[in-house]
Amino acid sequence: MDKETQELFKDILAKRLSELFTEAEKTVAGMTDTEETFPDPTDRATLESDRNFILRIRDRERKLIMKIREALQRMDDGTFGMCEACGDEIGIDRLKARPVTTLCIECKRRQEENERARGM
Ligand SMILES: [Zn+2]
Repeated sequence: MDKETQELFKDILAKRLSELFTEAEKTVAGMTDTEETFPDPTDRATLESDRNFILRIRDRERKLIMKIREALQRMDDGTFGMCEACGDEIGIDRLKARPVTTLCIECKRRQEENERARGM
């Protein structure tokens, strides 16, 4: 991968990362607001399930934030865009669709087949 392409992906990842932080901050701020607006026990149940929902989203956000950080780290290491399993280059189109991926399309397909075979 040439320097220019790598810079492009660095930009994409950095933007996504700051978006995620903004979203996460909003989520936390939202939780505090709702808690004060609905002190009624009936609303409390809804609030609890809402909060579980929010926590699930935040967990996914957290995981994505970690993945983006790892991708940025791989850029520093010079291994970004290389398949973790076979060492081949991951296609640019695949990276554009999913910049945090660590597997080429072929290895990803094999991994998914294995997971299906194990009933995951
Ligand atoms: Zn591969």
